[in-house]
Amino acid sequence: MAEILKGLPAASAITEELITRCNSLKSKGIMPALAMLRIGENQSDISYETGASKRCEKIGINVKKYILPKESKKEKILNVINEINNDKNIHGCLMFRPLEDKDTELEACRLLLPEKDSDCMTSESLSGVFTGSDTGYPPCTAQACMELLKHYKIEFAGKNVAVIGRSLVIGRPVSMMLMKENATVTICHSKTQNLPSICRNADIIIAAIGRAGFVDKNFMSPGQVIIDVGINVNSEGKLCGDVNFSDAEGIVRAVTPVPGGVGAVTTAVLAKHVIESAEKL
Ligand code: NAP
Repeated sequence: MAEILKGLPAASAITEELITRCNSLKSKGIMPALAMLRIGENQSDISYETGASKRCEKIGINVKKYILPKESKKEKILNVINEINNDKNIHGCLMFRPLEDKDTELEACRLLLPEKDSDCMTSESLSGVFTGSDTGYPPCTAQACMELLKHYKIEFAGKNVAVIGRSLVIGRPVSMMLMKENATVTICHSKTQNLPSICRNADIIIAAIGRAGFVDKNFMSPGQVIIDVGINVNSEGKLCGDVNFSDAEGIVRAVTPVPGGVGAVTTAVLAKHVIESAEKL
């Protein structure tokens, strides 16, 4: 049976370390704070916001929520970003994306101060990920994949990794981060040919697709590690990942569960970015 790589132990280890760092900041009179900007009432945004708020509370990070109605105009949204930029007591910002209006999203990403960018919205942060420099922070979910691999001491230097998905929030950045640490990465997407065969030949699969149970036994081989980033609802209305978990359990060496895998680590990474920004002051 495959080892189940739960997110909680990794998230708890990060949280414990952050509590110490947060206390040390507070002893110097710095109160770390995160602004969360949500436009509309998307259920998955709300549940992430709840999880992130709880994580921050546990660590001692203040959270300031900006919640705007779905129909908010561009000016209103940009005003909030300006307010966050100008508030010296806010160290990090997370804006839930995608926004309905792409143009507004682009302008908001351009406007946010790079030093307050906790989830890789700005081109400065993206350039850090793609050039391999220390500029900004990677997207929290992409970094959560790396944190999970490291927590469970899964070696990836020199290994073949198949990343399924090429979005700017997960697939591309996690591929760059893995390559920086000497993995050999194949970035796959909806037009990739022979996907099951590419995946079968990989040592590690990162699935970030958004299709329930898409990665099944045809993609798997013994000895593999699978990181399932997907968050989907299956035909029975249950939360599930991109990986057919029961197939994985019987074939591969290790697999992350959904829920309770990557998602559990993501909020801890977000908190880490806020603490790091506060430490840079
Ligand atoms: P996205 O922007 O929709 O990207 C999905 C990617 O999957 C695209 O690159 C797409 O290829 C590829 N894809 C779609 N169908 C495919 C197929 N049949 N074969 C191969 N590749 C295929 O989604 P995302 O924002 O990256 O999110 C991916 C998943 O992660 C979603 O389930 C999302 O809910 C989840 N997620 C989880 C967390 C977390 O904390 N765990 C955070 C954010 C998102 P093309 O580029 O060719 O279209």
